[in-house]
Amino acid sequence: MTTKNDKGYREIAQQVDAVGDTIWDMASHVWAFAELGFEEVKSSAYESAVLKKHGFTISDQGIGGIDTSWIATFGSGDPVIGILVEFDALPDLGNEAVPTKTPRKDGISNGHGCGHNLIGSGAIGAALALGTHMRKEGISGTLKVFGCPAEELLSGKNYMAKAGAFKGLDACLHWHPAPVNTLWNLNSTAASDFWFEWHGTSAHAGATPWEGRSALQAAQLFLHGVDMMREHILPTSRMHYIIPDGGSAVNVVPDYAKVVFRYRGHNADDVLKNVEWVKDIAKGAALATKTRVVSTNLDAAYDTLPNQALADAMMVHLHRLGPCEWTDEEQSFAKKIQKEVGKPEDGLATEILPDPKGVAIGASSDVGDVSYNTPTMGAIISAWPLHIPPHHWGCTACHGMSIGQKGVLKAAHVLAATGLDLFTNAELRFAAKAEFDERSGGKPYQSLCEGDAPIGGHHPEYHDGHDQIVVAVSQMKMAEK
Ligand SMILES: [Zn+2]
Repeated sequence: MTTKNDKGYREIAQQVDAVGDTIWDMASHVWAFAELGFEEVKSSAYESAVLKKHGFTISDQGIGGIDTSWIATFGSGDPVIGILVEFDALPDLGNEAVPTKTPRKDGISNGHGCGHNLIGSGAIGAALALGTHMRKEGISGTLKVFGCPAEELLSGKNYMAKAGAFKGLDACLHWHPAPVNTLWNLNSTAASDFWFEWHGTSAHAGATPWEGRSALQAAQLFLHGVDMMREHILPTSRMHYIIPDGGSAVNVVPDYAKVVFRYRGHNADDVLKNVEWVKDIAKGAALATKTRVVSTNLDAAYDTLPNQALADAMMVHLHRLGPCEWTDEEQSFAKKIQKEVGKPEDGLATEILPDPKGVAIGASSDVGDVSYNTPTMGAIISAWPLHIPPHHWGCTACHGMSIGQKGVLKAAHVLAATGLDLFTNAELRFAAKAEFDERSGGKPYQSLCEGDAPIGGHHPEYHDGHDQIVVAVSQMKMAEK
């Protein structure tokens, strides 16, 4: 599928290497800023400024009601190719760039334990290289770089998609750091998140319980109801919940209870159908306990569509460019982290795993909404030690030193070369689009999010997002291996 374009690949690689320092400068700054979702003010501004400096136009900002989102555009006309940027950090994962659990000396407790500092700078590095190459070679088309906030809150790309940000693309590329090298050619689940809040009446639990109506009992009934529901839904579905608020004193009938709830299903239709069932159970629990329920949709995401045509094109480059070559110091840095957390001391990945070829997994991602707008493919590039899960201080450490630097540069190379294919190979674009049409059933994309913008703020109770997919990929038995 990939054109024989050795000269083009050589030149695009030179362009990536030429912005290598810029890539690492962005990654280091965003690592140091370590801003949480919806709060990525400095990170978002720093990265969009680099794009502007290199001739990109910020054509949109504040998309989907998210202040830190933007679209940077280069060139004009067809084809239109997108690249996804992320930059949000996680709470309590701040760490010095050392192989031991060492909180940052500057007191910042957030950290890039999922490597979104690398995602943004690698994606932008690829875009800068592509822009320069297109200008030099007179390659026509439009390159759109999407600044996507709050991935950890599953509240970025999905709301941007609802606002129409990804319409009109011919294809879109992304990547994620991981302990392994492979492709994001996966079918993740669709998901929808809710707050269910019951309001009852408080009373002295010993003296006058008959005056009270317990919101906590409503929450208990609700959870019993959804656990009964499990038997009658597809085995691919998942339901998870926590009770962040269930009263504050044992001798007071709780007048308020809150459940954070996630439903996942194999596709959007399944989510839409069964979320209504879940809402009915919440209402039933309120009726039974003489309380009142308020349900609030926090976010929702589509399942991720695989795309074999794009995967095949990207895999060519993964193999052509090869896995990162690590120094002995980097391997021993990784082994120290593994030793500290009691994992096998296997160091960093030195091979490329086979293409997962659209395997279905239980996790979800806001990339799903992009993948229902346009053919979408991602690279997964080794940038932290084997056996270490994402959202770990060991990942934060690696993403602030040379291991992360090598990973992000490799990712920029893979994305730039695949991007070049998409701009110059119409056959690849048509094949990707034909497969997209078949897999999506030709249905126009309609967001699963109930609101037009995320409700905002920081919701530690539902940190999640596509990082689960990194866990899934890391743990997946690659069938062909
Ligand atoms: Zn992530």
